[in-house]
Amino acid sequence: MKITRVTAHLLSAKLQEPFAYSRAWYDTRTAMLVEIETDEGHTGWGECYGPARMTQAVVKEIATSLIGCDPLRTEFLWQEIYARYRDHGQKGLLIQGLSGIDIALWDIRGKHFNAPAYQLLGGALRDDVQAYATGLYRRKGGDPLQYLAEEAAGYVEEGFRAMKLKVGFGVAEDVAVTRAVRQAIGPDVALMIDANHAYDAVSAIKLGRLVEDLDISWFEEPVPPEDLAGYKAVKAALTIPIAGGECEFTRQGFREVLTQRAMDILQPDICSAGGLSECKKIADMVMAFGVRTNPHVWGTGIGIAASLQWMATVPSHSPVSLSPTEPLLEFDRTEHPIRQAILTSPIVHRQGRVSIPTGPGLGIDINRDALQDFKIA
Ligand code: CA
Repeated sequence: MKITRVTAHLLSAKLQEPFAYSRAWYDTRTAMLVEIETDEGHTGWGECYGPARMTQAVVKEIATSLIGCDPLRTEFLWQEIYARYRDHGQKGLLIQGLSGIDIALWDIRGKHFNAPAYQLLGGALRDDVQAYATGLYRRKGGDPLQYLAEEAAGYVEEGFRAMKLKVGFGVAEDVAVTRAVRQAIGPDVALMIDANHAYDAVSAIKLGRLVEDLDISWFEEPVPPEDLAGYKAVKAALTIPIAGGECEFTRQGFREVLTQRAMDILQPDICSAGGLSECKKIADMVMAFGVRTNPHVWGTGIGIAASLQWMATVPSHSPVSLSPTEPLLEFDRTEHPIRQAILTSPIVHRQGRVSIPTGPGLGIDINRDALQDFKIA
C-alpha cells in the first residue's frame, strides 16, 4: 500500500455567541483536518490542534515527502518526520502537524486490518468512558455568578457527574464563581478549575487556598507550561491535585514533567502531543511514574474519536483496586458548529458516559458535505 495524496482541510465557522476563557475571546471555531489517501482505496483522517492556518502549512510541507510511502510504517514515518525537522520543531506547530498525520495513518491501519485502532494498540481495557463537561466560559453580558450556576446545573441535569470551570479572571472573582458553581451542583458532582496558565505561582497558590474547601478534583494549568518550578511550588502548597500538559509535546517533553514530578495529572492532547503513536508511549511512561492521565480534547469528532481510541488503552489509575479510578474524557460543551457536523453519526454522551467507537480505524465516517460547508479557501 502506498500513500497517494495528503490533503489539509481548513474549516471555519462563526459562533452565534462569543465566549471567553482567561486569555482571549472566541467568536469563530476553526478546524484543521488531515486526509490521507492510498492506492488501495483506504482513506485515513486525522486532526491537528493549534492555529489552523499554521498547522495546515506544516502538514502541506511534510506531505510532499509522504507520497509513495507505506502508510502502515507509522513508527518509521513518525521518526523520519521528527528527525528531519528536529532542529526547528521539537515542540509546538511541527508536532501538532505530525500528530494529525499520525492519527490519519492509524485510521488507515485500522481500515486495512479491519479493526479499531485500539485493537491494534493492544486491545481495549474498557468499552466506554466517563466524560466531564467542559464549559462554564464567560459571556459578553449577564452576571457570571448567575449564568455559570445555571449552566452548571444544566450539566447535572444532562447526567454529567463532573465538569470543569474556567478561572483566571482575578483571584477574587474566581473564588466567587467557583463557590457559586459548587453551590449549584451540590457536593456529589466533581468540579475542576482551569486557569489556562493565567497566573504565576503566587496568585495560583492564593486562589487554590481560597477554594481548597470546595473539593476541587484538579486545578488545571495554574501557571505557564514552561514554568515547571512554578508547578512544583503550587503542587507543594495545595492539597488540590495539579493538572497540565495540553501545551506539552512528545515523550521528551513529558519526560521532564514526570522526572520533576511537576504535575499530578497529565493531559496530553492526542492531536497535539504527537498523535496516537506518541501518546501511547506517553501513557506508558505516565503509568511507570504512578501519575494519572486524561486527554485534553478541544477538537472535532475526529479528535474526539482519536482520544477515545487512546483512552481504550490507558490503564486505570489504580489498577489493582476493586473500584478503579478510570481516565476521564474531556467533553467540550461549548458551541462548535463543525464538531459533530463532519461525522455521519455524532459522538454523543448518555448520562455523562461516551462509548468508544468500535468500527475500523478511528471508528467514524466523514460527512463530506459538511467539509464543503465549512471550507475556507
Ligand atoms: Ca485546559
